[in-house]
Amino acid sequence: MTETIQPGTLYVVSTPIGNLGDITHRALHILGNVDVIAAEDTRTSRVLLDHYGITTPLVSYFLQNELRRIPELVQRLKTGGSVAVVSDAGTPGISDPAFALVRAALQEGAQVISVPGASAMLTALVASGLPTERFVFEGFLPHKKGRKTRIGQIAGEPRTVVLYESPHRIERTLGDLAEAMGDRRAVLARELTKKFEEMRRGTVSELLDGVRNAPPRGEIVLVIEGCDRRQAGAQTDEGEDKETDHG
Ligand code: SAM
Repeated sequence: MTETIQPGTLYVVSTPIGNLGDITHRALHILGNVDVIAAEDTRTSRVLLDHYGITTPLVSYFLQNELRRIPELVQRLKTGGSVAVVSDAGTPGISDPAFALVRAALQEGAQVISVPGASAMLTALVASGLPTERFVFEGFLPHKKGRKTRIGQIAGEPRTVVLYESPHRIERTLGDLAEAMGDRRAVLARELTKKFEEMRRGTVSELLDGVRNAPPRGEIVLVIEGCDRRQAGAQTDEGEDKETDHG
């Protein structure tokens, strides 16, 4: 069924995280029929759109031009235009720009519709073999300020933790995590959906050794097992937790 593009609507459209086949029919229809696509990097998005023969005009929308671009885009919505926002890869708003635009659009009474698709965090999590019923997404760890605190929180986190990391920081991050949490199961998911996709499974220290021996290239998601619930209770003064779920 063909969906009518709704006037005054911001569509938050997920795009592939590597494999161009990972985009829904609906996303292509929306991208092909909105008035304008706000893209994090217009050259990156052009590759995808050309692949599918989509000629919708693109405007750039990235962190550094957000303040200038948002009023223009919101004005389009207020006058009945339709806008799709996409990022370089995956779901806009997840470690990518979109949040500020979504908030501004809602504040001005526009409709916001999410068009779901790929995201690296869920792609890694569901194949990790680590518990999926409760998890936390931590995005990228801070490089300096607040890093130690955040790593301490992750060490005391009973839910599965999902992190994004770059190849040149992964050794440092695994080292910091190993020091803070001892040995815990973890999965390094690399180049998901792409030719050199790889899942390295082991403990945090085993992954650290592996990274030292064979530095990983490309894009990385790190999935880490939560700590023992009793240990978490002790660390957060919630040792009286009497829940009887499967944790
Ligand atoms: N919005 C995206 C999403 O929904 O997943 C995330 C964008 S964030 C700027 C980019 C980070 O996502 C990369 O540094 C990496 O940690 C992760 N990532 C993106 N694509 C990936 C892939 N194909 N394989 C592994 N990790 C990926």
